[in-house]
Amino acid sequence: MSLAVSATLDHTFARDLPELCLSWSAAPAPDPQVVVVNEGLAGELGLDPARLRADTALLTGAVPDTVAMGYAGHQFGNYSPRLGDGRALLLGELPDGRDLHLKGSGRTPFARGGDGKAPLGPMLREYVVGEAMHALGIPTTRALAVVTTGENVLRENGYEPGAVLARVAASHVRVGTFQYAAATGDTDLLRRLADHVLARHHPTADGYLGLYGRIVDVQAELVSRWMLVGFVHGVMNTDNTTISGETIDYGPCAFVDTYDQDAVFSSIDQGGRYAFGNQPAVLQWNLARLGEAMLPLFADDQDAAVEAATEVLTGYGRQFRVHLRAGLLRKLGLASAPDALLDDLVALLARTKPDPTTFFRGLAAHLRGAPAPLDDPWLGRFRAEGPDPEAMDRANPVYVPRNHLVQEALDAAVGGDREPLDRLVEVLRRPYEERPGLERYALPGPDGRYVTYCGT
Ligand code: AMP
Ligand code: MG
Repeated sequence: MSLAVSATLDHTFARDLPELCLSWSAAPAPDPQVVVVNEGLAGELGLDPARLRADTALLTGAVPDTVAMGYAGHQFGNYSPRLGDGRALLLGELPDGRDLHLKGSGRTPFARGGDGKAPLGPMLREYVVGEAMHALGIPTTRALAVVTTGENVLRENGYEPGAVLARVAASHVRVGTFQYAAATGDTDLLRRLADHVLARHHPTADGYLGLYGRIVDVQAELVSRWMLVGFVHGVMNTDNTTISGETIDYGPCAFVDTYDQDAVFSSIDQGGRYAFGNQPAVLQWNLARLGEAMLPLFADDQDAAVEAATEVLTGYGRQFRVHLRAGLLRKLGLASAPDALLDDLVALLARTKPDPTTFFRGLAAHLRGAPAPLDDPWLGRFRAEGPDPEAMDRANPVYVPRNHLVQEALDAAVGGDREPLDRLVEVLRRPYEERPGLERYALPGPDGRYVTYCGT
């Protein structure tokens, strides 16, 4: 008989950084019912899915040593000194070093005006989109389980079943965690936070400046991956920007059906701050906030520290382009190409706004004789480079979690019909493999645009 999961959890974050944690217990769930157990992820973690399914105490947080993590953050550009886990708890670290964390487990001292709860639909959304991102090879947190609590929660559209998401992440340390530590003025705390993430996520980084450079690089790569698949995060606040380089917090996110730089899906993003095409620039802004928070670690002299941080941040644009270029080459089935071919493609996409998913698959199909997905001299230049259509099919998904598909599956699941959700996740788990009968999963939505209300 193996140990219960809770007995295998470590608590290094809470031990190393007690100043950033509040010991706190989950709200009791009156009638916990498991909706989803992610069997693939459970297997990867060495957990028995059947035992996990039975362990509703773990999945609703009724285990010892749980903490709410403190963090600050810039939300839509405005600084909030105290955000923190308002409805979340860190259960601890799994034997492989990753965090096991709950969302929707009740109010904490960081809850401010919130109810501490989460509705089932948005927690299932984290599951669906996280699994899709993982299958696309994009670094992401992943849902291990979703459990309804037996309570209802009130949101814009009325009462919905309350749920708790159990999420696995490399860690839940964010840019906002550094901002919170920096704001205490305690440089020793800031140093211990940096030491913690250095050991955990970037062990080969050279000192604190090297650590900053690594974080800038993993985040530059992450946002390049988003741009390459047409993913809009929707809420790129500094508290939703991880130190590990994983995508976190799937709220009003979307995969674009048209390659529109101005695409916004969140009802609260009125100014388009987090529009599709703004993401690389906004990320750099967030990384500048990280650099400011880390300044005391870079040099004793303030001017020298600013100069060093600025130099790292200046490299961001180049790093982003390197990652984007590598990704574009993979998508085009080319080992190399003139910069102009790639730059002109990006400009062409921005001008003609095709559905990027069907566009890139169509390009490979065209090499095999299908009609061209565009009428432009660029096509001839592309063909002249000798692209490999098989390689293109391994790099360009057929199936992405388009908004209308996700919404339809979530609505059915919340209404008690799990079949569309299971089917969608099954489709998204093999995104590159075109299968007969799944045509509707490969097509853009009927009305092209969807607003996701932020009632998470
Ligand atoms: P999010 O937009 O989900 O990343 O959350 C931003 C901040 O708001 C975090 O500090 C959350 O803990 C907090 N928050 C969001 N929803 C709730 C809620 N229903 N109850 C308490 N805190 C919440
Ligand atoms: Mg968040």
